[in-house]
Amino acid sequence: MWQTNAVALRGGDEAMLIDSLYFPDELEALPGLLAGAGFEPDALLATHVDYDHVLARLAFPGLALGVGEPSALRLREEPGATQRALRDKDAELYVERPAPLSLGQVQSLPVPGSVELGSEELELHPAEGHTRDGMAVMARWCGLLCVGDYLSNVEIPMVEAGLDDYRATLARLSPLVETAETIVPGHGRPLTRDDALRVLDEDVDYLDALERGEEKPVLPDGRDTREQRKIHARNLGVTRSA
Ligand SMILES: [Zn+2]
Repeated sequence: MWQTNAVALRGGDEAMLIDSLYFPDELEALPGLLAGAGFEPDALLATHVDYDHVLARLAFPGLALGVGEPSALRLREEPGATQRALRDKDAELYVERPAPLSLGQVQSLPVPGSVELGSEELELHPAEGHTRDGMAVMARWCGLLCVGDYLSNVEIPMVEAGLDDYRATLARLSPLVETAETIVPGHGRPLTRDDALRVLDEDVDYLDALERGEEKPVLPDGRDTREQRKIHARNLGVTRSA
């Protein structure tokens, strides 16, 4: 669903899983699939705490979930909201799960900051605007940048928290993308540097149209669909009430 991505990453003799998949059969298959490829995660990380990004806890219930400080704050201030949103989506899609989502031990990480992965270091960069929490994770040693719900080739910017924050995040991501080889968005396919820079430019143009309050803006190639028009209508609602 929604072309959701989970990224397995290894540094030295430690492995980590960033974000998650959605469907129970995907989550059930995940540990075996990863083990077959030599990945046995020691920790989980979520770019933000929308429910479609934290479900790896269901596949690896023994592992702690690392989140940025803004995400930990969001969980404290909106207790149970992630679980309720998941229950609603599951009900809509007739999805049954073997167990309800429990976030278990949540480890709060400073953002900006870094976290060790074996012999390597992951950089954590703030990424607000889609939601009020959010971080991008840069694994410089292997040229990987996981951006969470930004820079998607299948989804226009979903501005739930604020246009200015969203713009600031794109400006912050730009130099990171310049030094990365592979950019993995929360939704859609992994992008090369050039493709990610093109999406970033398209997203800036879209935000300009949103700020002007255009009802029917030109949407980027491949993202001009009825579903994306619905997202645009929601974005207009958020920016007009701000
Ligand atoms: Zn998402």
